[in-house]
Amino acid sequence: MTQNIQKTPMTTFADLKLLEPIERAVREQGYDTPTPIQAQAIPHLLDGRDLLGIAQTGTGKTAAFALPILDFLAGDPKQPTPRRPSALILTPTRELAAQIGESFRVYGKHTKIKHTVIFGGVGQGPQVNAMKRGVDVLVATPGRLMDLMDQGFIDLRAVEVFVLDEADRMLDMGFLPAVKKVIAKIPQDRQSLLFSATMPDDIARLTKTILKDPVRVEVTPPATTVESIAQSVMLVDKANKRKLLVEVLKDQSIFRVLVFTRTKHGADRVVKHLRQVHEKAEAIHGNKSQGQRTRALEGFRSGKVRVLVATDIAARGIDVREITHVINFDLPNEPDSYVHRIGRTARAGRDGKAISFCDTEERAFLLDIEKLTRQVVPVVEEHAFRSKTPFSRDAPPPPKKKSGGAAARGRRGVGGNRGGGAGKGGGGQSRGGGGNRGQGAGRKQGKSRKVGGQAGGKGGNARRGGRPMARTA
Ligand code: AMP
Repeated sequence: MTQNIQKTPMTTFADLKLLEPIERAVREQGYDTPTPIQAQAIPHLLDGRDLLGIAQTGTGKTAAFALPILDFLAGDPKQPTPRRPSALILTPTRELAAQIGESFRVYGKHTKIKHTVIFGGVGQGPQVNAMKRGVDVLVATPGRLMDLMDQGFIDLRAVEVFVLDEADRMLDMGFLPAVKKVIAKIPQDRQSLLFSATMPDDIARLTKTILKDPVRVEVTPPATTVESIAQSVMLVDKANKRKLLVEVLKDQSIFRVLVFTRTKHGADRVVKHLRQVHEKAEAIHGNKSQGQRTRALEGFRSGKVRVLVATDIAARGIDVREITHVINFDLPNEPDSYVHRIGRTARAGRDGKAISFCDTEERAFLLDIEKLTRQVVPVVEEHAFRSKTPFSRDAPPPPKKKSGGAAARGRRGVGGNRGGGAGKGGGGQSRGGGGNRGQGAGRKQGKSRKVGGQAGGKGGNARRGGRPMARTA
């Protein structure tokens, strides 16, 4: 098993020169090495650069932005102003918002930085109260944020760092107009970070309007994990898939399993079928209310629900550890979706299993997947619902139904971290300019920010005019 092959050149958390209380919190979390996106992004962010991060959940991207933001704020502490956060993180779903809030809590626990999380589907009272008291960091979903802004409870004029998380998903969920309205309320002189797993045209255009001379970091998270996932494929006729699923689930080593279906209705049908055989299953997809999704996820996390059935989009923000198995009830027609899906298991270095059900129409998808991953997925020959239609990898594949997304978005190959476009940057200006407001959390004001051995390069930070991540005094 080859793991962490991407972590070269070796960067340690000590190399990142985060403030001591933040580094300590990271250590206490048990992280010993920065993930590739952390190693590549954090030095540039500490230098005040804008960032375009092509990365999805599971890469460690939350810490990649949360740590430098905390470092920046804790290095120059000031009392938060009521209603006026200094950092804004916009994220599409309540689950993601809660996870990001939790990250700020954990990484910032030895600092005095205050954060809060706001999202819809719950009463606004506690959120309004938190804003009235004042927070440094606001994590929000677009709808509720707009709502509270319209009511005058939130004012974005003091935002210095802005993060747009999961931009492509914002687009999928129809939030782009709201996002643009929010951005219009943030000062131009700010540091901006945009994360997206894919780069559809609308998002590419958006990056041009909100990022200034960004460093581009691209990571392909499943690349290291793919090798630690035991993959298999079961050839089955479409009509037998549900029966096969019940059969497969008899294996009690399947402790917590994420089942992927192509459609929302498909997910509901699978759940209905499983419940008929007294299997504890829940579906999570776009037609579910916020409350239903939260309950399903909580049940899954706590172990009450063994089987969570999800569509690709709904599953993307789920961060549940110890998913022992991923089952592709339907094979995706985009091979990179397969890689993303199976990457939901075997996280944090654990082994995981991925089982794919493949009907005759999906065999072309299987071949596409194998081409992308450069691995042959072993076929389980012996099982009760084995398709009688002969299968050969050499046979010309049946015509594809629908495809396009992967090619259009540019296939991200497995097995290489192509990221780190940076090339320049550094610059080593001091930050924290202006008034010496803080005892800080241990860093001297004005200390050079030159981070050796990262993307190297020379030249200053034109955009921030020598005030990387600097607070306006
Ligand atoms: P994210 O992509 O931000 O959702 O993070 C995925 C998971 O990786 C989370 O459960 C984090 O707690 C974990 N994580 C983040 N950074 C590291 C690290 N450097 N080492 C180990 N685990 C990490």
